[in-house]
Amino acid sequence: MDIYAGIVRYAVHPLWVLKDGKWSLFRYLREFEEFQYRDPQTIKESQWKKLNRLMSHAYENCPFYRSRFDAAGLKPSSIQDPSDFRRIPFLTKKDIQENLPALVATNYNLNDLVPNKTGGSTGSPLHYYHDRERIISMEASAIRHDRWTGYKVGDKMAGIWGSRTDLSGVRGWKGRIQRLLFRSGAILDSSSITDERLAHFVEVLREFKPKSILAYANSVYVFAQYCKEHGVRDIHPASIITSAEVLHDHERVLIEEVFRCKVFNRYGCREVSVIASECSGHSGLHINADTLYVEFVDDNGQAVSPGQQGNIIITDLLNFGMPFLRYKIEDIGSPSETVCPCGRTLPLMQMVAGRTTDFIVTPDGKRVSGAALTIYLISNVPGIRQAQIIQDVLDHVTFKIVPGPEFKDSGLALLKQKVPEFFGEGMRYDITYVDSIPKEPSGKYRFTISKIGSRG
Ligand SMILES: [Zn+2]
Repeated sequence: MDIYAGIVRYAVHPLWVLKDGKWSLFRYLREFEEFQYRDPQTIKESQWKKLNRLMSHAYENCPFYRSRFDAAGLKPSSIQDPSDFRRIPFLTKKDIQENLPALVATNYNLNDLVPNKTGGSTGSPLHYYHDRERIISMEASAIRHDRWTGYKVGDKMAGIWGSRTDLSGVRGWKGRIQRLLFRSGAILDSSSITDERLAHFVEVLREFKPKSILAYANSVYVFAQYCKEHGVRDIHPASIITSAEVLHDHERVLIEEVFRCKVFNRYGCREVSVIASECSGHSGLHINADTLYVEFVDDNGQAVSPGQQGNIIITDLLNFGMPFLRYKIEDIGSPSETVCPCGRTLPLMQMVAGRTTDFIVTPDGKRVSGAALTIYLISNVPGIRQAQIIQDVLDHVTFKIVPGPEFKDSGLALLKQKVPEFFGEGMRYDITYVDSIPKEPSGKYRFTISKIGSRG
């Protein structure tokens, strides 16, 4: 029995939460645990109540939404049902990039909001805010969804992730203490992977023996390939949670075979946290319907039927500091009417396509994670509206860039400075400016494309 896990779960974690003044975390946890078993009609009614509250708030306090509603001839009070709601235009990434100040609620002080940014699903860097209460409810959602995999606060968690600090969200000494206390001890930074690093990670995991591994889908697949090739059979967590990238069926099969545990796929993004995730029923992904309203619509904006593919549109029901109302996240999924054997009534969905990235292999033998490049290279260069990195031969990549008006020489200089940091000195590159980057016929947007056959 893991006694330390119990001490963390029942003493260290609650004290840590109280120290930070995040009392409401416990309330959210109670609410979310109960909500997931409510009857479907009650879930719908609760969402509609929260939607009404959010729409009125956004109309009253966000200049962007007020002019949007007015231009469309809409008032929050005139929106009576989901079909009325679909008349509200989408909030696109471009809208956010061009209207950030007008999206922040005027009854919030900007200094009280928490800024964040993302590489996004399309490589377009995006800046946005959460109010502090939303940060707490997002943490509660993550804890609940982790529990579905058998993992509880206090259990050991390892990570295969694009950045060490990203997993706890806290940098510096505080982050180090937090990771130590909460036992997210073994983290493989998969922003670039070498065989030496993978070998080292095998040793670390043998010692650490995590209950669960939270991983970029492509990265843990590469790790599974390495373990299979090298006969590593003694890494055996109770669960693996994959996220950040689309998980392909053949990847799931290999990961489950090598590590002899179930994979729990999760769909989320930094802007709204967990969107949907698998439970032990593995019948699809349960939508986080207590904090999000998720729609699936065709290219004409009409709701698609269960089983049909649609654009995923998300409304965050709880981020009042900067409302995301009908946010077009640029992923594709389908709603499902399946009833999950786990007994949870949160609606199910299937993921179809989203962030699709290849690893880029460098001349010195590193594999650089495409998902990490979106977040840590491109989103740090100001003014890039969209980007795609294409590797045609081992020592050459092309950056296709859609520049925004704020893309300056300094941004270009920063990109040029970062390229050798990520790809090594031996990588040649070209930069071409384009007006747009088309999606694949499948609807996927490929941020990185490697034509040389990486193992990812
Ligand atoms: Zn379920």
